[in-house]
Amino acid sequence: MSKPVIVLDPGHGGYDPGAVAFGLEEKTLNLNLALEVAARLEGIKVLLTRDRDVFVTLADRVALSRRAGPELFLSLHANAGGGRGFESFIASGLPGGHRAVEKQSKIHGRIMTALKPWTIIDRGRKRAAFYVLRHNPFPAVLIESLFIDNEREAGLWRDSRFVSALAGGVVRGIYEALGLSPASDKIRELDPGSSGPGTLYTVQVGAFAYLENARQRLAEAREAGFKDAYIYHKQYSS
Ligand SMILES: [Zn+2]
Repeated sequence: MSKPVIVLDPGHGGYDPGAVAFGLEEKTLNLNLALEVAARLEGIKVLLTRDRDVFVTLADRVALSRRAGPELFLSLHANAGGGRGFESFIASGLPGGHRAVEKQSKIHGRIMTALKPWTIIDRGRKRAAFYVLRHNPFPAVLIESLFIDNEREAGLWRDSRFVSALAGGVVRGIYEALGLSPASDKIRELDPGSSGPGTLYTVQVGAFAYLENARQRLAEAREAGFKDAYIYHKQYSS
């Protein structure tokens, strides 16, 4: 059976930073989140509309979706403009039974569950005429994760434990939206029968778009006594 395909779309990039506040640039948060989610997904072919800090037009993002024919197109954004909390969108005008409705519901629900420890306000499952949703022939969902012009929420975006939990919620939401069993989640309990000589288990504690961030985490891991911590890199094509 061939792997299901999804498109991850980190919003903004290049000369378009998206929202900017408290020294954060939305484009970077979106990209780091996308790369962490991509690194954690297994058994799914993940295409990225961008894998580095470049500008990609909205039309090109949708064009990739048209070419790929994904089960899901998921656009990642962070909010600004004087609010708080998490919200998700699908295109306005879709019929109630459209595949995007259920996918939005699952992704939204999993993310809110993952963010419970941080008591994030649920702004709801919404609809809007965003370009990448409206022009997308495949089920498309856009998430707006917190408001970076809110001091507390900007602080959460700086907290790697929070970002990792958010990524975990996105990962579980994607699995559920694709109807895949949680057994294919990398976070799963390993099958005890499969361990032994010839099997190597890697424990991942982070995935970063920038080497300096990876080095920072490596230093933290070593500091914490994990002398066998190391950095490996993986290239993503878009
Ligand atoms: Zn945005």
